[in-house]
Amino acid sequence: MDLILRNARLPGQPDRTVDIGIAKGKIAAIKQNLSADAEIIDLGGRLASAGFVETHLHLDKSCILDRCSASRGDLDEAISEVAKAKKSFTPEDVYNRAKRTLERCILNGTTHIRTQLEVDPGIGLKGLEGVLPLVKEYAWAVDLEVCVFPQEGMLNNPGTEELMLEALRRSGGLIGACPYTDSDPHGQIDRIYALAREHDLDIDMHLDFTLDPADMDLLHVCKRTDEFKYGGRVAIGHVTKLSALPSEKFSATAKRLQSAGVALTVLPSTDIYLMGRAHDHHVPRGVTAAHKLLHHGVNCSLATNNVLNPFTPFGDCSLLRMANLYANIAQVGTADDIAECFQMVTSRAAKLMNLSGYGLKVGNNADIVVLDCETIHAAVRELAPVLYAFKRGRKTVTREPARLHRP
Ligand SMILES: [Zn+2]
Repeated sequence: MDLILRNARLPGQPDRTVDIGIAKGKIAAIKQNLSADAEIIDLGGRLASAGFVETHLHLDKSCILDRCSASRGDLDEAISEVAKAKKSFTPEDVYNRAKRTLERCILNGTTHIRTQLEVDPGIGLKGLEGVLPLVKEYAWAVDLEVCVFPQEGMLNNPGTEELMLEALRRSGGLIGACPYTDSDPHGQIDRIYALAREHDLDIDMHLDFTLDPADMDLLHVCKRTDEFKYGGRVAIGHVTKLSALPSEKFSATAKRLQSAGVALTVLPSTDIYLMGRAHDHHVPRGVTAAHKLLHHGVNCSLATNNVLNPFTPFGDCSLLRMANLYANIAQVGTADDIAECFQMVTSRAAKLMNLSGYGLKVGNNADIVVLDCETIHAAVRELAPVLYAFKRGRKTVTREPARLHRP
């Protein structure tokens, strides 16, 4: 045994503490009064969970707020402002900004990340060349996988597909999509499925990102997912259109997603910031009710999306804050749903990414976050600070709890 985390409280077991034994990067034992010749860290009854899982994060265009303006604050402006800023991106610039963002993720207890990475004839592979070195450089703290996608369209943007294939070849990642910026949205979706099948790739798309519930692309995605037996390998992000559906139609659409096996990622900070800009009062929240989709058997995650750019001029890369933000916006109050907010940044997010060896179980990777609280409910409700993070059993983060200095 290399390490024992003594007196840990596990998610779903608030009434007792256990010791977690770690050997060779794996969880070797979970029981009370574990004794072995090993380094011991006493957690004092605090919550130990499998690490946070970020399913959707744009490292390449993070931290560019000082280069952009945002007067309207809507999606069109964000796309055009970032498209302008991209012209001056270099691999070194992308690397430096992505590194800063990645380190903040690690400090907030994230141990797995799917990063959305855009290629097109404008930026070429500069984004990829900036991000790719970080995969190896930070493998000691985080598993970073790359999702290659065409932010500025694909069928209307000749040369994009070739760049995507080259980026996929170099990164070994999965394929993404952004049909709403394409001249032929369904054409792009079909092309993405064709490439995914040809190269045996999972799919993660940006989808249905307005508040007009007519013509939802997700129905086309479900159709293709059924047709190609791709259930369990497809995720869709944003899908803010669902937030504009009355409950009966929402339930029917949820059932369709469930039957197709399509998972959904809600990006609370971006969605509430960009949506509803046409309203000057009673502004809709524009955030899809992920916890209600879970009730229908759809798997969902909550993720960060953008950090300090015109899509989201905020961001500390804390997934726990994202869970709390979502719970606030979506008016989540019941204990079961609050627990699900925690699962949507841990186990449900891991399932969406088809991670193997994830979770606090003997034999799994020792990717662990320790929070300054006792339960997952307290973690979400009170934004409990991260005190430790471990990647494959090695300590990657330590944070001293804040202390009061009484007179
Ligand atoms: Zn995104």
